[in-house]
Amino acid sequence: MSHQPLSYIHPTAHSPWSTYLSQVDRVLPYLGDLARWGETLKRPKRALVVDVPIEMDDGSVRHFEGYRVQHNLSRGPGKGGVRYHPDVTLEEVMALSAWMTVKNAAVNLPYGGAKGGIRVDPRSLSVKELERMTRRYTSEIGIIIGPTQDIPAPDVGTNPQIMAWMMDTYSMNIGGSASGVVTGKPIHLGGSLGRVKATGRGVFVTGREAARRIGLDLNGARVMVQGFGNVGSAAAELFGQAGAKIVAVQDHTGTIVNPNGLDLSELLPLVKRQGGVAGFAGHASGAERIDDEAFWDVDCDVLIPAALEGVITPARVDRLKARLVLEGANGPTLPEADDALAERGVLVVPDVICNAGGVTVSYFEWVQDFSSFFWSEDEINLRLDKIMVDALRRIWDTADRHRITLRTATFAVACERILMARQERGLYP
Ligand code: GLU
Repeated sequence: MSHQPLSYIHPTAHSPWSTYLSQVDRVLPYLGDLARWGETLKRPKRALVVDVPIEMDDGSVRHFEGYRVQHNLSRGPGKGGVRYHPDVTLEEVMALSAWMTVKNAAVNLPYGGAKGGIRVDPRSLSVKELERMTRRYTSEIGIIIGPTQDIPAPDVGTNPQIMAWMMDTYSMNIGGSASGVVTGKPIHLGGSLGRVKATGRGVFVTGREAARRIGLDLNGARVMVQGFGNVGSAAAELFGQAGAKIVAVQDHTGTIVNPNGLDLSELLPLVKRQGGVAGFAGHASGAERIDDEAFWDVDCDVLIPAALEGVITPARVDRLKARLVLEGANGPTLPEADDALAERGVLVVPDVICNAGGVTVSYFEWVQDFSSFFWSEDEINLRLDKIMVDALRRIWDTADRHRITLRTATFAVACERILMARQERGLYP
C-alpha cells in the first residue's frame, strides 16, 4: 500500500509530523487486520486555517495565523488544547492534534483528537490585545468547535483567563451559555478543581508507578525538569513532596542547579513573581546558574521534559545520566533518540500516557458541566490517579507481551481502540 504524502505541509526529518508518522509506522505491525485502516492515522480529518486580524492598542491593525485541526473524530468529539507561540505552524498543530487522538484513546476517554494554535508571542501583547485576538480566533473557529463537536483547552501560552474569553465568545455567538465548549476554565465559570495541576499530577502518578517497577526509590531521587510552567512546576512540587530532590530546572529564562535540591518553597513563588527561574540563582538560595546546554550533563535519576518538542536528540541522549524519562511535554523525543534511550536501558514514559492527566481532568470538567454538578478536589484526584494507574498497567502488559517500548505499546493500545471505532462506524456515505 503506498500513499501520496500530504501536499499541504512540508515536514523535515526532525519536525513533529515526521516524528509522529514514524511512531505510527512502528505500531502498524502490532495492529493485525486493523492495520488496513492505518492510513486514517496519517492524515487529519479536518484542518482549518484562519486569519485573525485585530486592532492593536496603538491603532494599527495586525494579522495573526490561527489553526484548529481535528485529527480524528472516530471515538467522539475533538479534544485538545490551544497553543499561543511564535513558532506554531500548521504542521506542528497537526502533530499535536494526532498525539491528542492517541492520548485520549490511551486513557479511554470518549474523545477524538484535536489541537489549535496561533502563531504569536502572547507576551508581546497587552491584556486587551490578547483578549481581542482570542475572541476573534474563537469566532473564526466557531464553525467547527462546540460541546459535542470539538472542545479546546489550555496548552503552551494559554491559561484559564483565555478559556473564559473563549467560552464567553462562543456563548455570545450562539446566544446561550455553553460552558462545555472549552475546559480549563476558571472555577466560577464551570471549571474543575484540580485541573490546573492535573497534567503535572499525571506525570507524577505515572512516574511513581514507573519508578516502583524499575526499583528506583523516589525518596532522595534526583530529578531535573525542563520547562517550569503549569506542567513542570506542578510535577516538581509533587516529586518534592515524595522526597525527591529537584537538582536542575530549565526554562526560557535560563538554567539553575543545586545538587542538594532546589528549595521549591522559595522557587515556586519567585517564578510566579518574576515569570522565570533565572533570578533564583545566587548565594542565598544555594542555586547556581549554568549554561543552557550544560543542563543535559547534570547528574540525575529522572528527567522530566515539560516544554516543547524535539529537545531530546541522539547527541543529548549520549550525555544524559537519567534512568527514567517522564514526558510532560508533547513530542519531546526524536525517534532516533528514542532508539538510543532504549538501547541504553533508559525507561521512557511517553507523552501520550505520561501527560494525559490534563485532558483526563478536562474530561471530568466537561462531564461536570453537562450535569451542572461539581465534585470535590479529593474525588477528582482519586479518580485521576486510578485512571492513570489502570491505563499504564494495561500499556505495560502490552509492552511485556510484545517486547516493545512503552511508546509503541501505548500506540498499540490506543490505535486499536481508534481503528476499531473507525471500522465499526464504517465509511459514510
Ligand atoms: N493541552 C493539554 C494536552 O496537551 C490538555 C488538552 C485538554 O485538556 O484538552 O494534553
